[in-house]
Amino acid sequence: TKIFRISDIQGENVKRQESEIRQYNEHLKQMEESRKQLLTDISHELGTPMTSIQGYLRAMLDSIIEPNVNYLQMIYNKTILINQLVEDLFEISKLESNQTKMEFEDILVESLFSMFKNKFELEISDRGYLFAMDPLQGVPKSMLAVVSVDTVRIEQVMNNLISNAFKYTPQGGVIHFQCEVDAELSICTFKVNDSGPGIEEASLPNVFNRFYRGDKTKQKQAPGGTGLGLAIAHEIIKKHHGQMGVESKPGKGASFYFSLPIRLLNTR
Ligand code: ADP
Repeated sequence: TKIFRISDIQGENVKRQESEIRQYNEHLKQMEESRKQLLTDISHELGTPMTSIQGYLRAMLDSIIEPNVNYLQMIYNKTILINQLVEDLFEISKLESNQTKMEFEDILVESLFSMFKNKFELEISDRGYLFAMDPLQGVPKSMLAVVSVDTVRIEQVMNNLISNAFKYTPQGGVIHFQCEVDAELSICTFKVNDSGPGIEEASLPNVFNRFYRGDKTKQKQAPGGTGLGLAIAHEIIKKHHGQMGVESKPGKGASFYFSLPIRLLNTR
C-alpha cells in the first residue's frame, strides 16, 4: 500500500487546482473567441444589405441609374431583411442570456400534437402542400404522456420548421407530422418531414449554427432568410431540456425533429 504524506496530498491539490484554472482559462478563451466571431458575423450580416442599399441610393443620387419601382423594391426588401436580422439577434441574445421568461404548463403529448394539427393543417394546404400526419405512436393504452412546455414558444419552433418546409419545398410537396414516444417512455419526439430537396450530409452539422444559410444556389430559391431561425428554435428546445436534430438525404426531403422529456400518468 502506498503511504501518502501531507506534502503529497498538498501537491495533488495544487496540481488539481492548476488544472482547474487551466480549464477555466481555456473556457474563457473560447468564450472570448466566440464573442469576437459573433461580432464579426453580425457586422458582416448587417453590413452586406447596408452596402447594397447605399450602392443603389448613391447610384440614383449620382444619376447613374434612374429611380424606378424595381430599385425601390430591392432597397425596401433589404431594409426588411435588416429589420428581421435585428429582431432575430435580439431574440437569440435574450434566450442565450436567460432573459426570456418561459411559461411552462403541463399538457398531454396527444393534445399538443393535435394542437399542431389544428394550427398548421389549413395553412399547409392553403399554401399548396399536401398535409399528412401519423397517429401518435408509442404510448401504452393504460397511460397518458404529459410534457411541460411553453406552448407559445413550442408553437414558434413548429412554425419555424414549417416555414422552412415552405421555403425549401416546391409547392405540391408533402409536409408530414409525426410524434413518437420512445421505448423507455422517457421522451416524445415531434417530427416535421418535407419532400423538398433535402440537405447534403456535409451541411447537416451546420444547420443549427447562427447565420448558416446553406449553399448559394438554394439561397436564390429562398431569399431573405437570416440564418437564425433554426438557431433560435434550438435555443427554445434547450430551454425545455430537449434536443433538436435533422435527418436528410439530398433529393429525399428533410426531417427536422425535437424531443422533449415526458412524464407518464397511469389511467387505471
Ligand atoms: P434561413 O431559413 O433563414 O436561411 P434557418 O436557420 O431557418 O435559416 O435555416 C438554416 C439553413 O438550413 C437554410 O438556409 C437551409 O440551407 C437549411 N434548411 C433549413 N430547413 C430546410 C429544409 N426544410 N429543407 C432544406 N434545407 C433546409
